[in-house]
Amino acid sequence: MLTGIAVAPGEAIGPAVVARLRAHDVRYRIAEEDVPSEQARLAAASARTRTQLEDIRDRTRHVLGSELAGMFDVQILMLSDPLLRERAEALIRARRVNAEWAVVEAGEELVQRLRAIEDPYLQERHGDLTDVLGRIRANLQKVDGDASWLNAQLARFNEPCVFVADDLPVSVAAQLDWSRLAALATDAGTRTAHTAILARSMGVPAVVGLQEATRMVPPGATLLVDGTTGVIAVDPPPSVVEATRHRLHAVAVPAESLSGPARTADDVPVLLFANIERAEDVPFAWREGAEGLGLVRSELLLGGQPIGQVSEQAQVDVYRAVLDHAGPREVTIRTFDITPEEVGLPEQMEVEPRERLGMRGLRLGLARPEVLERQLRALIRAGDGRQLRIMFPFVTSADEMARAVAMLHAQAERLGLPAPPAGAMVEVPAAALDAGGLARHAAFLSIGTNDLTQYTLAADRSDVRVQHLYDPRHPAVLRLIRMVVRGARRHGRRVAVCGEMASDTILVQVLLGLGLREFSMAATSLRQAREALAGCSIAEARDAALRALYDGDIAAIDTSPAV
Ligand code: PEP
Ligand code: MG
Repeated sequence: MLTGIAVAPGEAIGPAVVARLRAHDVRYRIAEEDVPSEQARLAAASARTRTQLEDIRDRTRHVLGSELAGMFDVQILMLSDPLLRERAEALIRARRVNAEWAVVEAGEELVQRLRAIEDPYLQERHGDLTDVLGRIRANLQKVDGDASWLNAQLARFNEPCVFVADDLPVSVAAQLDWSRLAALATDAGTRTAHTAILARSMGVPAVVGLQEATRMVPPGATLLVDGTTGVIAVDPPPSVVEATRHRLHAVAVPAESLSGPARTADDVPVLLFANIERAEDVPFAWREGAEGLGLVRSELLLGGQPIGQVSEQAQVDVYRAVLDHAGPREVTIRTFDITPEEVGLPEQMEVEPRERLGMRGLRLGLARPEVLERQLRALIRAGDGRQLRIMFPFVTSADEMARAVAMLHAQAERLGLPAPPAGAMVEVPAAALDAGGLARHAAFLSIGTNDLTQYTLAADRSDVRVQHLYDPRHPAVLRLIRMVVRGARRHGRRVAVCGEMASDTILVQVLLGLGLREFSMAATSLRQAREALAGCSIAEARDAALRALYDGDIAAIDTSPAV
């Protein structure tokens, strides 16, 4: 049994594919009939490795001389050593393992042999061997990027797999074929990291923060994943597997389609919107009772493509696909919330790759305007005649918002088209504290509680080590939310919550008590949020909010009938 953080509910069962993506090490078992094609894959990767090494050797000789170039001759020799190549081929057949796994095994055997020989020269070749092995593994996985290669591997199974990874960057996750995944389990990860958000929205059970899953789970093992409790059973007894499969395959009665606003116990309407990442998910959102789309993360909508290279027309097509699905309903598309590396722009100064307090979101858009201007033109064109709203992420000041709105109007004028209404995401404490100032320039406000929580509490939302400090129920976060509601009201602006907090059935009642009447969340959470809202009156919600604000006491509102 392994236990981690439950981030996407539901149960699933399937064979484990174990991937240490950072090390290009992916392991799974193959069927007998796949042995020749797997050996051919290894042969092709070895040939590619040889060509690369010969090329590097020749260039080194040209620039640095023959002596240094000789070390690549050593690597080329290792590559053709029967103890490596032929051994790996034999392992594929004998143990029915994929080529990457066989290369690691054959490499480890060779390392042991080198260690046993009392020759300092040979012992020092350990680094060269690691280098060659890494290059073969990387070449095995060169298709068109991490995700296409992964999708090709997942497609080889005749049932969806449980994908066990060290970490799954959202740029890769956004391009995955999720229909091939029964469940997701990762060593790293937290509840509000984007990959977890994506899993929830795809309805794929997921457990993250497992720390050692890639080390503990044997590839090919049967995994029973419970994304509600965060428990994973490794190779459970056959009787449990059978009973679970039976239960999961029972034909589910399709849930009744919902519509109209949610209503509190005292009949106050509350608008529910969906957060989506793919155009094809829109019909599901309508069925779950969404009024419209409250947050479309455009960088995820583009499926992890290098954002800086996506043309204006290609973007128009993607945005239009969502708007076409939505018809007359309101759609709020957020402009790119990414960093320079994700745009594919060279940064002027070195930054930590995971740094989230630097150049990102609207800041980046204003500092390097070509990408944001292109996106705004695409949005204006796609939104012509539709119910589109544009939302800027990571806004820090009213001045930034004013500049963003001016940029939007300049692009609209250039196109001779009307500018859609532009709103601001409130996810930085400064923006919450000056919500009134922001609301002067913004047509609406939407509170991104995922980021607002991490910046208020100085607790990185993707760092598993500080998750005990990351708490959206903290009175400081709740007070900031109340300030935003008041600031928006003063200027007659609509205000919503679009962070994960809204999908928590207890917290949505507290948010209601803080004055919110509009929420946007993963479509998979809408039904339960509607029920939670129906279970309390505004007076009860206010009481709950006051207790949370001043006593730090968060408790479910007791909806059991009075005796
Ligand atoms: C948020 O920060 O709450 C939010 C909705 O945006 P994201 O999760 O994409 O950062
Ligand atoms: Mg955010």
